[in-house]
Amino acid sequence: MRRVAHYAAELALVSPYTPMGRVIAIANQKGGVGKTTTAINLAASFAAAEVNTLLVDCDPQSNTTSGLGFAKDPGRISSYHMIMGAASAEEALLTTELEQLWLIPSHKNLVGANLELVDAEGREFRLREALAPLRDRFQFIVLDCPPALDLLTLNALVAADAVLIPMQGEYFALEGISELLDTIDRIRQGLNPGLGIEAVVLTMFDDRTNLAQQVRAELQNFFGEKLCATTVPRNIRLAEAPSYGKPALVYDPRSKGAESYIRLAKEIIERQALGTGLRTSDLGPQPAAVSDQAVAPAAGGIAEGAEAPAGQQGAAVEEIPAADEMDKTA
Ligand code: ATP
Ligand code: MG
Repeated sequence: MRRVAHYAAELALVSPYTPMGRVIAIANQKGGVGKTTTAINLAASFAAAEVNTLLVDCDPQSNTTSGLGFAKDPGRISSYHMIMGAASAEEALLTTELEQLWLIPSHKNLVGANLELVDAEGREFRLREALAPLRDRFQFIVLDCPPALDLLTLNALVAADAVLIPMQGEYFALEGISELLDTIDRIRQGLNPGLGIEAVVLTMFDDRTNLAQQVRAELQNFFGEKLCATTVPRNIRLAEAPSYGKPALVYDPRSKGAESYIRLAKEIIERQALGTGLRTSDLGPQPAAVSDQAVAPAAGGIAEGAEAPAGQQGAAVEEIPAADEMDKTA
């Protein structure tokens, strides 16, 4: 653990600049892009930097909960009870192996909240209101979202100050991104005007391949400084750690995976210090490649730009003009 302590000390150097209660939703409706791995390991890295951090499992799959070593238990107070108003966030808090990391667990019964709340008044504000009393106790509150733009993700985006978008460095990385940005903008225009984009992070990234470099260049062109300098490599330790119920920095602090999330935490803390909470309106022109067809497997790499489909350029993304810039870097 000496190495963790070393990074913790390094991270702690910048942590005093972090305001209390920053809520970061880890969201991408695409499945398997590394949301949970990012939520667990980023939150653990914040905690290792000696800042009080709360991780909230907002996904009925409960992978964050099991990834921190908590067995499935329908009797345990969870995010379901919290969102349904049956328990307070305080009552749902669990301590973890890391002294400064707390968890609000999930259970598969959370899937019912989507239906049970459908007609409820203020249904999108349930999580925000539930977490409000805890905001002063944690420097970071990290929300792991399900792979859907459903009411649970909506609750997370309404509760959040910013969204961190993990994207896999592969051909289809941009698939569906316009839908996510659309949703973020719509929420900003109504339910949560303060919502920003924290950053975009490339996961399972192999920078030795031409394809990965091309995808990175595409994302850089579109997201500009929102794209994290830190990338997360494909690393077996990151995949193994959840089965031991541990964040990677506890399971194997020397692994490339653990190191990358420690660097990511540092980058995010530094971004905070510099006050670069970007909004979608700060992004570059919306690329044609944002359309679901444009970043498609093609012999030479990234496909030439197709038009973004009608309906994905609606009012909610009007601050991100549809453009055909993205494919020019390919
Ligand atoms: P879902 O959409 O189902 O919630 P997710 O976006 O949360 O998925 P993860 O569960 O974090 O994605 O990751 C999907 C799979 O890929 C998991 O088996 C995880 O262990 C593995 N994985 C994630 N990141 C890495 C990585 N950097 N290196 C190796 N394996 C990884
Ligand atoms: Mg997940």
